[in-house]
Amino acid sequence: MNHFTHERVTHNVTKIEDYNVYTLLIEGEDRAVLLDTGLGIGNLREYVEKLTDKPITVYLTHAHGDHTFGVGWWDEAYLNEDDFHLFQNVEPKDRIASIKRLTGKDDIKVEDLAPKFTGKLIPYHDGDIIDLGGTTLEVVEIPGHTPGCSMFLMKEDRIMIYGDAVGRKSGLWSDGTASQLVAALEHLQEYDDQYDRIFRFHHGLEWPKGFDKEVLECARNIVNHTDAHMRVPFSNFEEVYSASIVDLNDPELSRVDGKIGNVLYLPKNAK
Ligand SMILES: [Zn+2]
Repeated sequence: MNHFTHERVTHNVTKIEDYNVYTLLIEGEDRAVLLDTGLGIGNLREYVEKLTDKPITVYLTHAHGDHTFGVGWWDEAYLNEDDFHLFQNVEPKDRIASIKRLTGKDDIKVEDLAPKFTGKLIPYHDGDIIDLGGTTLEVVEIPGHTPGCSMFLMKEDRIMIYGDAVGRKSGLWSDGTASQLVAALEHLQEYDDQYDRIFRFHHGLEWPKGFDKEVLECARNIVNHTDAHMRVPFSNFEEVYSASIVDLNDPELSRVDGKIGNVLYLPKNAK
């Protein structure tokens, strides 16, 4: 049984909710893109194919499991080449533990999970243009959260899909570093006059513009060793630090100064 829900959020974007993560169906006049494939619990392909009659191409914003575990329902998917080494192409039974950790749910059944991906992974790169007919996407590579983590600019709609690249945590828990994030966010500033709205994939779709500059400040502080360097409990990581002072009583670890953008990082990525 499917647990997915969906909501049309603009004339061409449908948000599909998969427990605590979103995937977006973006439809042009000729074709559609599915951005991310969620946790892979239940048949996402069957679900989205009922939402549109246009041919769907799958793009993955980055390689983390909560965005890619559903990809096995498809024969091919696009992923930034710099994330290929992080892509976990594993049997359903080997995903159970991560899915439980990511969702907090104990009743995940192997038979409900997407099959192992046996298709083709196709690389995309910074600056690639995806023409859906009247809706054009541009890839904006923002390494840090993962080395190939990418945003997608909906050019006509002036929406930047941030995904997980930058946010309240901007977690550096793969092999992306703080200095990579600084360079990436400087690159993002070049797009500042091309979008008015921001979509993210966790804890609410739409976010106010401007917190990327707070994240940039945090990332610069980490590189210069002038950040708050506050140890915080996070997921199953042994040692995680926050660049800004956060409220430890808040499960979302919000900043105490009321700002949004922050960086959480592993010691090895603080360079
Ligand atoms: Zn992620």
